[in-house]
Amino acid sequence: MYVIEGLTVHLGRWEDRGWIGVENSRFFKAAAYRLRYRSAITTFEWVKGHNGDPGNEAADGLAREGALKPLPDTLDLSVPNNFTLHGVKLSALTQQIAYQAIRNTKAEKHPPRSSASNNLARIQAGLVEQIEHPETTAQIWLQCQNTNLRPLVRQFLYKAIQHAYRIGDFWTPIAGYEERAVCPFCKDSADNLDHILLECEAPAREVIWLLAADLWPDAYGPCQTSPTTGATPRAPPPPPMMTSLPAPTRGHPAYSRF
Ligand SMILES: [Zn+2]
Repeated sequence: MYVIEGLTVHLGRWEDRGWIGVENSRFFKAAAYRLRYRSAITTFEWVKGHNGDPGNEAADGLAREGALKPLPDTLDLSVPNNFTLHGVKLSALTQQIAYQAIRNTKAEKHPPRSSASNNLARIQAGLVEQIEHPETTAQIWLQCQNTNLRPLVRQFLYKAIQHAYRIGDFWTPIAGYEERAVCPFCKDSADNLDHILLECEAPAREVIWLLAADLWPDAYGPCQTSPTTGATPRAPPPPPMMTSLPAPTRGHPAYSRF
């Protein structure tokens, strides 16, 4: 329905705003081009999913197959110039659209840090392992800003993913402070969030997980906060707090606990 409405209802408006802030615009642009390129009239019909419709079942099969691929396919989404509308229609330009365009340009100049990409990939792997649900990075960022979380928790999630805490290897290149890169308690271990939360022998680590268990909403079931001391999992799952965030919706009683 989202795709059909995008192509039949919203297309004109999206083109007027120069596709700024439109999700999946690359795919909609390519689809619109292919539809316009056809000389015949195309009609769409919505069918109920998982209901035995051969076309729908085949599409599901392809989607499943695609989701399992280790690397995304390279798709030809190019649209010839004479089929593309460039820029924003002046009468449709608002301050909000202009601001979004500036933000997009800045985001292109500053691609996400590789440490953030690594952490996001680990969170996605953790989600698949724990709740068998892969989540998009956009959705993970969105959940980190969930206003039902206290600002400090939101800040922790954001900074943890961005690798923004001044711990561990942050100090390595700073002359005179190199010893801060090592855990002062375990001495021979690099100090980083993995170590602090999952491996450190310091008693404070126990306290962190007791507090986390205290914070854990009953609605999520029993809290699984007993990472093995000393063990280094190959791809350690993120704290359960993060993995289970997307589950309840707004208004769910679990939210009031955070
Ligand atoms: Zn330690």
